Amino acid sequence: MKIPLAQPDICDEDVEVVADVVRSGQLALGPKAEAFETALAEYVGVTHAVAVNSGTSALHLLVRALGIGPGDEVITTPFSFIASTNCILFERAVPVFVDIEPTTLCIDPERIGAAVTSRTRAILGVDAFGYPADWPEIERIADRHGLAVIEDSAEALGSARGGRRCGSFGVAGVFGFYPNKQITTGEGGAVVTDDGRVASLCRSMADQGRGDGGWLNHVQLGYNYRLDEMSAALGVSQLRRAEEMIERRVRVAGWYIDALADVEEIVLPSVEEGVRMSWFVFVVRLTEGFGRSDRDRILAGLRAEGIGCRDYFQPIHLQSFIRETLGTAPGEFPVTEMVAERTIALPFFPAMTRTQVETVAAALRRRVSAL
Ligand SMILES: *Cc1c(COP(=O)(O)O)cnc(C)c1O
Repeated sequence: MKIPLAQPDICDEDVEVVADVVRSGQLALGPKAEAFETALAEYVGVTHAVAVNSGTSALHLLVRALGIGPGDEVITTPFSFIASTNCILFERAVPVFVDIEPTTLCIDPERIGAAVTSRTRAILGVDAFGYPADWPEIERIADRHGLAVIEDSAEALGSARGGRRCGSFGVAGVFGFYPNKQITTGEGGAVVTDDGRVASLCRSMADQGRGDGGWLNHVQLGYNYRLDEMSAALGVSQLRRAEEMIERRVRVAGWYIDALADVEEIVLPSVEEGVRMSWFVFVVRLTEGFGRSDRDRILAGLRAEGIGCRDYFQPIHLQSFIRETLGTAPGEFPVTEMVAERTIALPFFPAMTRTQVETVAAALRRRVSAL
């Protein structure tokens, strides 16, 4: 690809700190993971962070830490990466989908109440593409019904609503540090929370269920979800530059918005008052007069020109194994389906230049007007 869809921002210092760990010989269970946890908790504005080997692991630990099990229902969004639903299925609990808002692309709080039953235990919302869900409203609904709230903030490191950073809402939040996220550790993730009990349960389960009684003392079912020291060192170094990288993403998003503002056939993302947007990806969508085949033609055309792009996200309730498992079908979540058939994720990364943005915008403009 001439212009890739995503690209991690790796500097010389990132390389050096990882090499230092490799040379030190302490590759696991060391000071780097602790340092990363301390720095991350401080950045998000919470008291605890537990670093793990992926965002999916972090989600799984949280579902278990909240005691969610077979037959329990968890209200969640169908417009997300599959992990936010899979973590519920890992524990034989039941994902109950609620449609999204067409502007924020996050779960629609107004539709949550109707999905609550006597078996509902939690609401697992997602900050879609980095946009903070309406957490104050979600928390109010959860309180009214006695439900726990889990924030999947894997796409939203650095975003904030009302001055509060993503990851800090609900009982706990989750981050993922795959290379396309705002900061990366290669593979990696974290649970962030103010709840000391949740933090220590997650920490124990991520480390083979160990208790305080020593290396071979296992007090509960556990996993090996630990983050290694090379990854953690990279995390510390990346987090130090997080604000700078996020600001560059904000600038790139601004260039796109300038370059595409007058294209009538596409809907651009917009950010409401009181929201700080840490952009994960830059996703536009075709207006409702167009459909999936138009969108797919544009994706193919852009790729043929060497421009990375993708149809983020395909609705979770329409994935084949979810349909088989839960009996979901097309038509159930019309807003999600309307959006998902028309989205185009454009190349987006901190080092992107204005010229690259203009190249992509010109290609998109040309392809759209040829529809
Ligand atoms: C990236 C992501 C995750 C975590 O993914 P991992 O690849 O396991 O780190 C979880 N939820 C959402 C919404 C994501 O985008």
